Amino acid sequence: MTVANSFESLFHVRILFQGRDRDIELRVPEYEEVFALILPPEHRSPERMSVMFPAEFKRLIKSMEGSSIDIEHARAIYADSQAAGQLVASRNRLFETLAEQGLIYMQCPHCLSWEAEVSVTALTTALQAGPWPIIDQRLFLAVPSLAQHFPKFLRTRQFPYSSRIRFQLPSTVVGIPAASRSGVLGYADAQHGAMERAAWQRWTPSEVSGREQWREDVSGFHAALRLSVALQYLDGVSGEITPEAVLQMPAIDFYFLDNLHYLAHNVAITDEIKVSVRCEKCGQTFVLAADAEN
Ligand SMILES: [Zn+2]
Repeated sequence: MTVANSFESLFHVRILFQGRDRDIELRVPEYEEVFALILPPEHRSPERMSVMFPAEFKRLIKSMEGSSIDIEHARAIYADSQAAGQLVASRNRLFETLAEQGLIYMQCPHCLSWEAEVSVTALTTALQAGPWPIIDQRLFLAVPSLAQHFPKFLRTRQFPYSSRIRFQLPSTVVGIPAASRSGVLGYADAQHGAMERAAWQRWTPSEVSGREQWREDVSGFHAALRLSVALQYLDGVSGEITPEAVLQMPAIDFYFLDNLHYLAHNVAITDEIKVSVRCEKCGQTFVLAADAEN
């Protein structure tokens, strides 16, 4: 599997580092590699960020001038504010562009035999909402939407909502190898949170080595666990969808799903007509969002 030509340029950047132009090839890390680097705003002290940014740069850079880089190189890039700024801008473009490439299929709740195919852009336009940010202040990895519990909002329910949200992951569209290509997304707060509470009990009391960050106060993990609860199906995963399956996704797939969950469940819909579509099979109308209890 190779990256489609239209996205190739996002991976190749030239940055001015220590007075010389360098060719840098970027990569998309697995979510597992970056989730522990996501800090809420109040924890982003200069001291902590001077550890977090080099760690992220090391995972983000596949090669510089054809060679892999170590943590010392990554620290030197961070210390060079112009180089660090260019690298951050390239990372923002890479993550934000690729995470939008996933495809969404919303099932008609009347006949269950037709799906509206929508892009992330089309959905945000219809909802009159921005996507959930991947990057905060154009600089920091933002806290994912799934790391918090939004209050239940009111819906007028003039029309029924889509009965199932299927998706194709950005990695598949873009051409990045991944264990899963597609799946079905449900609701992280289903059963009034009982599923999430069960998942915390099941996955986090263990003292398994390598899982020190599997904690509720680690925002990036909180979001991963809630996504594992929300996912109803993921191809390539037989049986239960574990937090591990989520952590192993390319980060762009995680960010796509975090945004899709937010758009489908958490955005307030003031005008259902604007977010509705007419089924091409049965001719009835439904809203391009999920019913909260699905
Ligand atoms: Zn229909």
